[in-house]
Amino acid sequence: MFSFIKSMMWFIKKNWYFYVAIVIVGILISLSNLLPATIVSSLTGAVDKNTITTSFIIKDILLSYLLIMFLIYIVSTTKRVLQNRLKVRLYYALQVRYMENILIQDATFFEHFQAGDLLTRALGDVKSVNFSGSTRLLNIFLEFITIVVTFTAMLFINVPLTLFSIIPLPIIFFFNFYLKKKVKRNWKEVREEASKMGNVILESITNVRTIRAFSKEEENYQKNLVYSNNVYKIERRNLKLNVLFQPVFNSITAISTIIAYGLGSFYILKNGSIEINDFVQFTIYLTMFSGPLTNIGNLLNNFYQSLISADRINEVYNAKSSVIDNEDARNIKHIDNIEFRNFSFKYEDDNFYVLKNINLTIKKGETLGIVGRTGSGKSTLVRQLVRQLPICKGELFINGKFIEDFNQESVRSMVSYVPQEHVLFSRSVYQNVALGRADASSDEEIRHAIELADFAKDIDALPYGLDTIVGEYGVTLSGGQKQRLAIARAFLKNSDILILDDSLSAVDGTTEANIIKSLKEYRRNKTNIIVAHRLSAVMGADHIIVLDDGVIVEEGTHEELMANKGWYYHQYLSQQMEEGGLDEK
Ligand code: ATP
Ligand code: MG
Repeated sequence: MFSFIKSMMWFIKKNWYFYVAIVIVGILISLSNLLPATIVSSLTGAVDKNTITTSFIIKDILLSYLLIMFLIYIVSTTKRVLQNRLKVRLYYALQVRYMENILIQDATFFEHFQAGDLLTRALGDVKSVNFSGSTRLLNIFLEFITIVVTFTAMLFINVPLTLFSIIPLPIIFFFNFYLKKKVKRNWKEVREEASKMGNVILESITNVRTIRAFSKEEENYQKNLVYSNNVYKIERRNLKLNVLFQPVFNSITAISTIIAYGLGSFYILKNGSIEINDFVQFTIYLTMFSGPLTNIGNLLNNFYQSLISADRINEVYNAKSSVIDNEDARNIKHIDNIEFRNFSFKYEDDNFYVLKNINLTIKKGETLGIVGRTGSGKSTLVRQLVRQLPICKGELFINGKFIEDFNQESVRSMVSYVPQEHVLFSRSVYQNVALGRADASSDEEIRHAIELADFAKDIDALPYGLDTIVGEYGVTLSGGQKQRLAIARAFLKNSDILILDDSLSAVDGTTEANIIKSLKEYRRNKTNIIVAHRLSAVMGADHIIVLDDGVIVEEGTHEELMANKGWYYHQYLSQQMEEGGLDEK
C-alpha cells in the first residue's frame, strides 16, 4: 500500500487539499452516523421507563432525526462530489503523463511494447489505478476511521462486551493476507492476457486488407478466439476469488454479532451491567462496525488488483529511452556539417553489426545518395540523424561536436525525414501536409509544398481535392500518392537537412525527375540525403555511397562510380536495360 502511495505522490502533492478535505468530510460522516443510534437509544429508554410524551416524540425524536438525516445527507453529498472531482482529475493526469512518456520514447521502446499492449495499459490499467488513487484508497482509510470511531463508541457503552464481540475479527486479517497474493497473481495474468488480446485485435484491424488478401480470416479469427478464451478463463477464476471474499467477511461479522447478542442478553438478564437502551445502541453500532469491515474486504480486493496495474503503468513510465543526450546538451540552431567517424551500430536484439566502421562526411548544401542491396543498412544509417537509435560505437559529429551534445528534439526539428514506411493520419490531405510544421503555415506555402512534391496534378482527381480525407493510414490513396504527400510535408518543413528514405520507389520516372528537379532548385543551399533503389534518383547527387552489409564499399560521383565498374555500374546497366525493355513495350 505504501509503495502505491509513494508512486502516486506526484499527484497527491499537487492535490493534497482534495485528500485532506475528503478525509475531514469522511470523519464528519463517521461521527454523524453515530447520532441516529442515540435517538433509538433514548426512545428505548423512554419506553422502558414509561416517560413518553407528545412533545418528546416530536422534538426529541422526529425533529432531531430529521436534522441528523439532513446533516448526513449534506456531508455524504459533499464527499461524493469531492471524490468524483478528484477521480476525473486523476484520470486526466494519469492519461496525460502516460502519453507524454510514450511520445518521448525511441524506436527500441516500441519494439518492447506493442501498440495493443500500450493501448490496453492506457485503458484498463490506468482506470484501475485511477479508481484506487482517487476513491478506493481514501475509502479504505475512511472505513478504517469509521471502525475506530464506532469501536470507541462501543467501548464507551460497555468494555467487556465490545472486546468479546470483536474476538473473531483478526481472522479477517489472516484471510486477507492469504488472498492478497492470489488476487495479485491472478490479476497479473488477467492483464497480461488482456494485453496479448489487445495486440491481436489491433493487428487484425490494421492488417485487415492483407488478412483478406491471403484468405487468413478464419485463422485470424481462431487466434482471436484463443486469446479471448484465455482472458475469459482467468477472469472467471478472478470472479471466484471475488465471490469468496464476501461470504468470509459476512460469516466472521455474523459470529461477532452472535457473541454480542449472547453476552448482551446475559449481561441484561443476569448481572444487569448494561441497560436495555444502551444494549440497543450497542447492537446498532455493531452492525455499523461490520459494514465497513465487509467494505474494506471488497475494497482491498480491488486495491490489490490495481497494485499490479500500477506496476504495469510504471513499467512504461520508468522505461528510459536508450537515446540519451549529454547532461549539458544545448539546442542546435543550424546543422551545417555531419560526420560519421569509425561509426558502427548494432541493434539491441541482433548479435551482428548492421553498420561497420562508417566514415562519411556530409557537407552543408550537399546532396548525398545512399544506395545498396536491401538490408545493407541504409535506413539504419539515416535514422541516426533523427536520433531514433542510440550511438553504439564510434562517433557522430554535427558541426564538429558530438551529436549527443545537442538536445535531440532540437536536432530532429532541423531534419525533415520521410521514413520508408509512410506515416499518414486519418485527416484531410491538406492537414496531413500541414503537419510538417508546428507553427501554422499559410495556404500558399502548403500549396507550394504540394507542387514541389509533384502532387498537385493528383489533387483534382481526388473526390474533395485537398479536403479529401485520406482514411486511416492513408488507405484511400495510391502508393505513389502517399509517398508524395509525405514528401510535400517534408518540403513544407524545409529544414536544414532533408532525408528521403526510399521515398521515390512508388512514383514513375517522370514524377521522380520532377521531384528531383524541385529538390535541386528549392533546396539549393541545403543538405539532402536520398536513399534509393532506383539509381536514377541519386545520379545527380554530389556524392553517392554504396553500402553492402553495413560497409561503404564504393563512393564518389555517378561518373566516378560508373568508371569504377563495381556494384553501382552493374546495377545501373541492369536498371537501364529494364527500363529500356519497358519502353519498348
Ligand atoms: P531496405 O533497402 O530494404 O530498406 P536497408 O538498407 O534500409 O534495407 P535496414 O533497414 O537499415 O536496411 O536494415 C539493416 C539490417 O538491420 C537488416 O539486416 C535488418 O534485418 C536489421 N534490422 C533493421 N531494423 C532492425 C531492428 N529494429 N532490430 C533488429 N534488426 C534490425
Ligand atoms: Mg530501408
